[in-house]
Amino acid sequence: MRSLYISDLHLSEERPEANERFFRFAEEDANGAGALYVLGDLFEYWIGDEDAGSSFNAVVIGFFRRLADAGTRLYFMHGNRDFLVGERFTVAAGAKLLADPSVVDGVLLMHGDTLCTDDADYQAWRRKARSAQFQADFLAKPLDERRAVVRGLREKSKEVIGAKPADIMDVNVGAVREAFGRHGVTRLVHGHTHRPGVHRLEVDGRRCERWVLPDWYGRGGYLEITDGKAKLVRW
Ligand code: MN
Repeated sequence: MRSLYISDLHLSEERPEANERFFRFAEEDANGAGALYVLGDLFEYWIGDEDAGSSFNAVVIGFFRRLADAGTRLYFMHGNRDFLVGERFTVAAGAKLLADPSVVDGVLLMHGDTLCTDDADYQAWRRKARSAQFQADFLAKPLDERRAVVRGLREKSKEVIGAKPADIMDVNVGAVREAFGRHGVTRLVHGHTHRPGVHRLEVDGRRCERWVLPDWYGRGGYLEITDGKAKLVRW
């Protein structure tokens, strides 16, 4: 069976090239795949499922739906940009929502942000943003106001990221080892850091592989695992 893994597409109406690339990916590369895993940050932002019916979001959902109808199993995991994606989206897309972390077919799947434990400010923000209270307050606002809040957050995040040393935004090796140990797996796939590649390490005497997915701001691409054999495909 052929399984595909993507993340960090950051789709939005503002970046038509990435959207076109995704449409082609869905129709060509993913055609006939047994499973497609979206490991977070499919969207640049998601302000709530009421927005699932916008013309842009409906087009994206349509591409997933056609894949699901053709027999590809679809899985969706939240990223730090689109953690408000809910059931209305997943049901329309024909996808199953996956918890972060999850182990499927012996592969540990994560978005990747929880591994970046050196970035204390980010982890504090994450805890706040994932709290029920924060989400209830945000979702109680009218859509236009939510859009304005997100725009403000994106501007702030650009400044903060620009001022941070690059290495604290990568994964913490201890957190990676801990994840391999806790889940007893030898393969981890995640995105988020925008540093695609494969890292090999030994944990408790087991040879482990950490595959990092590419973002689609740049070249983009995906990970393919066929009968246990993994390869990164870039375009
Ligand atoms: Mn991310």
